Parts: sequence; structure tokens; C-alpha cells
Amino acid sequence: MTDTHCPYCALQCAMSITGGKVSPREFPTNRGGLCQKGWTAAELLTSPARLTTPLVRRDGELRPATWDEALDVVADGLRRLRAEHGPDAVGVFGGGGLTNEKSYLLGKFARVALGTSQIDYNGRFCMSSAAAAGNRAFGLDRGMPFPVTDLDGAGAVLLVGGNPAETMPPFVQHLRGAELIVVDPRRTATAELATLHLQPAPGTDLALALGLLHVAVADGHLDEDYRRERTTGFDAAWRIAASWWPERVERVTGVPVADQRAAVRVLAEARGAYVLTGRGTEQHASGSDTVSAWINLALALGLPGREGSGYGCLTGQGNGQGGREHGQKADQLPGYRKIDDPLAREHVRKVWGVDELPGPGRSAYELLDALGQPGGPKALLVFGSNVVVSAPRAAHVADRLAALDLLVVADLVLSETAALADVVLPVTQWAEESGTMTNLEGRVLLRQRAVAPPEGVRSDLDVLHGLAVRLGQPAERFPTEPEVVFEELREASRGGPADYSGVSYERLRRGEALHWPVVVDSTPRLFLDRFAHPDGRARFVPVDHRGPAELPDAEYPLQATTGRVLRHYQSGAQTRLVRELAEAEPETYVEVHPDTATRAGLAEGQLSAVVSRRGRTVARVRCVPSMRLDVVFLPFHFPGEGRANLLTNPVLDPTSRMPEFKVCAVRLEPV
Ligand code: SF4
Repeated sequence: MTDTHCPYCALQCAMSITGGKVSPREFPTNRGGLCQKGWTAAELLTSPARLTTPLVRRDGELRPATWDEALDVVADGLRRLRAEHGPDAVGVFGGGGLTNEKSYLLGKFARVALGTSQIDYNGRFCMSSAAAAGNRAFGLDRGMPFPVTDLDGAGAVLLVGGNPAETMPPFVQHLRGAELIVVDPRRTATAELATLHLQPAPGTDLALALGLLHVAVADGHLDEDYRRERTTGFDAAWRIAASWWPERVERVTGVPVADQRAAVRVLAEARGAYVLTGRGTEQHASGSDTVSAWINLALALGLPGREGSGYGCLTGQGNGQGGREHGQKADQLPGYRKIDDPLAREHVRKVWGVDELPGPGRSAYELLDALGQPGGPKALLVFGSNVVVSAPRAAHVADRLAALDLLVVADLVLSETAALADVVLPVTQWAEESGTMTNLEGRVLLRQRAVAPPEGVRSDLDVLHGLAVRLGQPAERFPTEPEVVFEELREASRGGPADYSGVSYERLRRGEALHWPVVVDSTPRLFLDRFAHPDGRARFVPVDHRGPAELPDAEYPLQATTGRVLRHYQSGAQTRLVRELAEAEPETYVEVHPDTATRAGLAEGQLSAVVSRRGRTVARVRCVPSMRLDVVFLPFHFPGEGRANLLTNPVLDPTSRMPEFKVCAVRLEPV
């Protein structure tokens, strides 16, 4: 029996694997619980869809090759393109499911072996708005700056744009003692558990947050002592919120005045309250400002930086937190350092033993959009990401991939993105390798190897090593043992915001709870004495409502929003392989109010085209009476013509560069 953790989401539930079977394990985040995805995860290890040999495209077909042949083809292509067009001719795209070690070595590989600035990862599509807002407000972003178990004692929780009852069910047990207020345009499984459900129109959350701040101040709930002693910037934020009186907010959002007042009263009067945000409120062109508005509300009520209350973000991907700390993000270096900080560059340069480091590169969508274009990368290496399904404006992204001279994908299976590649490299997965993950509460975990990988498969660390050596790097600069990579990561992170220097495999094997920063001791709760800005105070950030980039009109009269469902994870590349999950949720669908369906000439179970300015997807109609009349919902896990991201709008948040996944104008048409 080997103790390990789930391959999927950021709760990183603890499990054991015995004889190829999964059983849940007692752990603070899941307390012996697993969701259906976790229970069935072992099937991934024996999937017949698993790739076990490299593939190289010859005469238009992907054909089996040896590892040496495949790596030689990649290295020759990279060398040629770099020689012809310079180092930025090669791009790298990582993933929030990669272990800390892989994230770290991938960033180092890009900047040292390739010398490119063109690296980013799919976490840009996930957590980046909350990260930007957290950095602005607190001077540091750790999704949850407190342990998940602190929520057990909450009197009230305001959960905005998150649906953990479907996406991470074991998390819900931590909300049981609280009065739960859910903000979501849909009546989700989580909204069903709430004492109060606020159902704003998609893209109007920022106006709602301004309105709740207005009510909090007008009704006398502003924590004056806290505001004076622990924050700055209230006046500028209030000048904007002052004009968002409740009736105006009701007109813009559709949330009744009485519900706005009730929500604030519950939060203000609770014995310990928390504000939590998820992707629903973050994945917007104004996502950073929207999260700032929710943090402003939390600050006005005096919640962050106190034991028993706070603000946190529900990270989605398994290593969504660690994945953004170790250097696979375009603007960051290991230790969650800023790439344009001269001291950070100096520290990392010394650890890596190099003279130069490239500067910041393009963000994820901008990188994909530049592929094969003048001045853009001519080659792309993809690790742990399936952008043809998960990126916005997906058909355009596929066209950009097709414009490349060289596309290389490292994956477990022939994902939709791998199917377009020139070279496919079959790599190990969760239980076949050891590595650390950092969960949604900033806790570093050791996910231990439980089974041997299939013959012919290599770890991503081996792939990076093999390519780096072929590109002329010293072999010892790119180790292949996870623990050796981690030892170097510790040094690279030393002194940075996410300092892992005191974390070791030995401590993790002993089961120590280590929340970063860890120089010697763990830091389960951040900000209790001071926030991370130089003056120790949190910042109110003045933000105003702008609304979605695309509004409904006569041609596209509805708003589409996208999200996750219980049985699938991210692009579905893993969960669609698991029979029980695939049978329970085999195809995409569009949730729509019955009256809206009737007006479009549709009925339950029929196929509908959902059409936006960017594309058309086909989905089966599910009539849901609790849907708003002006909103439809599609899950984004499905491939082919069922891809929700054929519709989505790639307009970007100016700060986080997050695309507007959560709202675009559409119409329905019978197929
Ligand atoms: Fe736990 Fe998330 Fe895995 Fe479900 S998918 S078992 S909630 S870690």
C-alpha cells in the first residue's frame, strides 16, 4: 500500500493505492472522503488509451518512433528555428497539474536551455485574476491564506462564483457549520445548499460587490478600527462604491435590494465570516478588479488577517497554487519572484549558474495567438495542457497551432492537442512518479509513486533532461530525480515570497503539515500580524463596474457561461478515459430555461447549435427551470464540435491577462 494524493483538483484529497485500487485516507482537507473522480482514478493507470511509444509525424501521419529518434527530431527542429529566428522562436506552454518539480524544471529549461522568454501555462486561464487581486490587496498571493479546516468554525461564508458541491465535493463538509451565501448566475448544486442565493446576471458581479460594500458602510458595518489600523485606500474605494446604492445594483445585476442587505447583515453579524471566490467571478475581462471588489468588502468588514475569518480563493487545478510559484509563468521566477525584479534575477541566475536570463514573455492566450505569426514563436512545446479544448476561441487556437513549424506535446494520451502535434512524447502520470504538489491552502504535499509506469513511458523530467543535453547543456544542470530537483527548487525559492527552503522530502514523508513560506516553521495562517506590503497594511483598491466585453443584441440575444461538472476535470482528457465517468456524463449539453428553449424552437433532449461571434458548438438541450431566462450554461470538458470554448471570447483582463471565459453573447438554433 502506498499513500498518495488524487490526480485531479486542488483539494488534493489523500488516498492510498493497493493492488491498483484507490481507497480514501484521513487528511484534513478531505477527512476520508473522495469524490467520484477520486474513487475511479485508478482506471487512469490501466487505460488502453495510454501512449507508450513516442510518435513522430511522417508523410502527414503520426508514426511510432524510438525515444532517441523523437528527441533528435525535436532538438534538431529547435536548433534550426533558434538559429534562423532567435531564441524567442520557441515557445513553451505548461500546466497547473504539473508537480512543483516539473513546473520548476520547465521554467529553467525554457529560460536556460532555450533562452526564450516565451513561456506561460494554463493556470493563466484559471487563477490569475485572483492572484493579481491578492497581490494588490495583501502584497502576497496564497489562494487560501489559512487552512481549509478554519472554515469549520465559520459563522458565515460568502462563496462567489464557485461550485464545490460538484467540483470538489469533500470540501463542502467544511461549510456545514456556516450560513452559506452563494453568488452565482445559476442555481448550482452548491447554491442548493445555501441559505441565500444571489443570482446576478453574468458579468455583473463587480457591481454586486460594490453594492454590498455600499450597504456595509451605509448600514454601519464598517470596521473602523480595523480600517484605520490595518488598511489604506478606503476613501478612494468608497468614493466609487458610494454611487452604487442598492436600487441601482438591483437594476444592473437583478439581485433584489432585500437580498443585498440580508447578505451583508449575515456576514457582519456572524461569529467569524469568510469571503471565498472561484472562477465564476474571476474569469472575466475585469476579473482582477472584480476580485478586488470582493476583497474590498472583506476588508470593510475587517475579515482578512484575523484568526477565524478571512478572504480566500478556491484554486481549481491540482497544482494551481504551486504551478504558479516556480517559474512557468511568463512574468515570474522561482520562489514566486517577479521576473523584472533585479534582485530576484540575480538570485535565480546564481542558483542556475548562468550569466543571462530572458525577460518577461507573452501571457498564455497572447502566446497562443502569436504562434506562427510574424515575430511570434515558430515552435511550441506543450506539457500537461490540452489547449485545443481548454483555451478560449478554440478553433482559432487550433489554426495557430497548425501554423507552427514544430509542435511537440508531452502527454499521457493522444489528447486533442497531441493529435495535431509533429512529435508526441508519452509521459508518466501522478501515481507512477513522485513529486510535490501545493494545494489550495498553500500546503506542500508529497505525492508518492505507487506503481511502475508502463514500459516505454518517461517522466517529463527525463524529457527535459534529454532535450537539454541535446541542446548542449551540462547533464547535471537538468536532474531527473524529483527529490534532487526539489533540493534545487528550495534554493531557488529561498528568500522569495513563496519560500520553500525549509521544506524537504524527509519532512513531507513524516507527514508534517507545511504551508509556505517555510524557512524553518510552517505558516498555516498568513497576515495575522501584518500584511505583506512594506507598511504592513492591506490595500483597498478603487475599482468600478465595466460589464462584460460583449453584450447580448438582436443577433445574439443570450449570454453563455461555462463551467465544470461533477464527473469531469478540466479539458476531460483524463476523466473521459474513465468508463464510469464517461458513461455517466458522455456528451456535452446546454442548460437553458424551458421558456428560452421554447422560444428558440427547442425541447428537452434535442440537439441545439449554440452560436457566438467566434464559432458554433452543438450540445444537447437540458431544460432547467432555475436558469435565468437570458443565460445558457455549457460545461467545457468535451472535445470536437461540442467544445464550449469554440464560443468564448479571448478579450483579456488588462492586469492578469485572463480571458473572459465566463460570459459571451450567443443564440440557440435547432440542428
Ligand atoms: Fe478530492 Fe478533487 Fe480528487 Fe475529487 S477530484 S477526490 S475533490 S482531489
